[in-house]
Amino acid sequence: MSLDVNALRAQFPILSKTVDGKPLVYLDNAATTQKPQAVIDAIVDFYTGTNANVHRGAHHLSDEATRRYENARASVASFINAGAREEVIWTAGTTEAINIVANGLSQLLAEGDEVMATELEHHANLVTWQQACRKAGATLNIVPIFDNGELDIEAFEKLLSDKTKLVAFPHVSNALGTVNPIKVLTEKAKRVGAWVLVDGAQGIAHGGVDVQDIGCDFYVFSGHKLFGPTGIGCLWGKKEILESWPVWQVGGEMIKDVSYHEATWGALPNRLEAGTPNIAGAIGMGAAVEWFKQLDIEALHEHETALLNYATEQAEALDGMRIVGTAPNKIGVLSFLLDGAHPADIGFILDRQGVAIRTGDNCAQPLMKRFGIPGTARASFSIYNTLEEVDSLFAALKKAKMMLA
Ligand SMILES: *Cc1c(COP(=O)(O)O)cnc(C)c1O
Repeated sequence: MSLDVNALRAQFPILSKTVDGKPLVYLDNAATTQKPQAVIDAIVDFYTGTNANVHRGAHHLSDEATRRYENARASVASFINAGAREEVIWTAGTTEAINIVANGLSQLLAEGDEVMATELEHHANLVTWQQACRKAGATLNIVPIFDNGELDIEAFEKLLSDKTKLVAFPHVSNALGTVNPIKVLTEKAKRVGAWVLVDGAQGIAHGGVDVQDIGCDFYVFSGHKLFGPTGIGCLWGKKEILESWPVWQVGGEMIKDVSYHEATWGALPNRLEAGTPNIAGAIGMGAAVEWFKQLDIEALHEHETALLNYATEQAEALDGMRIVGTAPNKIGVLSFLLDGAHPADIGFILDRQGVAIRTGDNCAQPLMKRFGIPGTARASFSIYNTLEEVDSLFAALKKAKMMLA
């Protein structure tokens, strides 16, 4: 079965926008994805007809808001095959989710312990562990990659020991598109008894995530990179671990019993969700997940692969273009440099032609330094992009090349 890309595009109002009279070619999907009408409607419907605070079931609207909010949690839970609904904790996004994990594990990390992350890390999954290790007196080990952007699994294995308490890695690299063998890595880390955190910010939008099958302890992602709203995301974690943690924030909704001098904490998920949550955001994210679930995942993968292959072929054929990140297993991202041109200038010239890409360090400064470059230009694809848009990208790049030569 193949994907009807035009029918899919028609569900995204913003994709028919023009920029300076030119059709928008949106190739910045690794930064954030666009939103289908179903998601926009879910948010508007909530504020139009159901707005009330949740879990304060004193009236009809509050009950309805609570029902929709908890249905959204159930949608996300089933989407990633969580063992239980309460293992899904709403967060502001991936960054906050990783910070909550770091807070939860902080008292369990001790001097002499080791934490592992990779050279591929987004700042969110690196700086957090730098800080946590500094506080605990633990050591942060960084797993190297090969020059093609592929993780060095042998080095990964060598760094593992009984001192390793946590292993963190991205499912898919936002900067290079490398897809990591997350199940293999998890199995190896589990052999030394380490906790495993998978940064799924880029992986989740490609579908097929089954957290129980992966075997990790934590899988985190953002709504906005999964066709949902900004300001909402998810921390999935194993119940017995989340339950054992010190609380993250304290306040309303997360308590069981309070006196003037004492308080006890409620059960999951509320235990890790103090205060009035991002109700509309959660409902929007639930709608995004429901929308995504009806798509044919095989067809999506085929289409995404076709986009990347087509773009890669053209990049290889273009004189002076260098692809950064050529791992055999990659998806969605074409990071590149053009001889003699600064990525920011490329981005500017492309923008004048309606082509939106990201330029700069891609929130991965150490990775850029590892390649000896200040940054890249990055085109990132989503399921609604077309081969014609790849042509537009390269037409614009040829223009940029002429102008910057
Ligand atoms: C975007 C991204 C993050 C951070 O997500 P936020 O939504 O900004 O919190 C972390 N890791 C990866 C791999 C990302 O792509």
